Amino acid sequence: MVHVQNMDHLIIMIIKNAEFLTSVALGSNLPNDSAPEIAIAGKSNVGKSSFINFLVNQKSLAKTSSTPGRTRLVNFFSINKGELYLVDLPGYGFARVSDEEKDKWAKLIEGYLTSSPMLKGVFLLVDCRLEPTDNDRLLIQFLYSMNIGCTIIATKCDKLSKMQRSIMKKKIANGLAVGEKDVIMTSASAKIGKEEVLQVIDQILNN
Ligand code: GDP
Repeated sequence: MVHVQNMDHLIIMIIKNAEFLTSVALGSNLPNDSAPEIAIAGKSNVGKSSFINFLVNQKSLAKTSSTPGRTRLVNFFSINKGELYLVDLPGYGFARVSDEEKDKWAKLIEGYLTSSPMLKGVFLLVDCRLEPTDNDRLLIQFLYSMNIGCTIIATKCDKLSKMQRSIMKKKIANGLAVGEKDVIMTSASAKIGKEEVLQVIDQILNN
């Protein structure tokens, strides 16, 4: 386990290496290796690909796409040669697909979350400017019922002032019935929040 204590005396994980491992269709057999997994979920266009690239310090490991909801695959990224897998789940709640298709996605995502023995935690991405949706609440409730820890990654916080960030942090935490410490304000474009996320990853891996 590569980790260091930073200047604020936080123990954080150091990401030295990140590689694309594989893409699988939701519902098919997922790689069942021995690495712990952290799944990353969120609505299409929330900034999931940008967040992953920011976290691993690469420009285009995760493909950002201008067509929301296009990616229907689960992408596995191997961190530090198999120390951890980041599991990029397909974005949910894309307005232009049918309800039937939305249900199918929800079931498949639920299937992954209930069947992966190595799943250690979930990052749920939400736009920091928006109040949480019913979809977000359902996912959180589901995760809690499964006893899977969840950290809320509020994206694009460069769009808010510091004052607005703290107001929205409270609103998001209240809206999802989680503590404020479980909400991390991040910005891929302004490079905000990475250390806090790396600290959470370290805690997840050491639990
Ligand atoms: P995904 O569909 O969830 O993977 O989202 P993307 O990473 O493709 O980003 C969706 C849109 O949000 C793109 O236009 C990005 O440029 C924009 N975006 C992503 N992260 C940030 C951020 O931290 N700040 C701002 N201002 N825009 C962002």
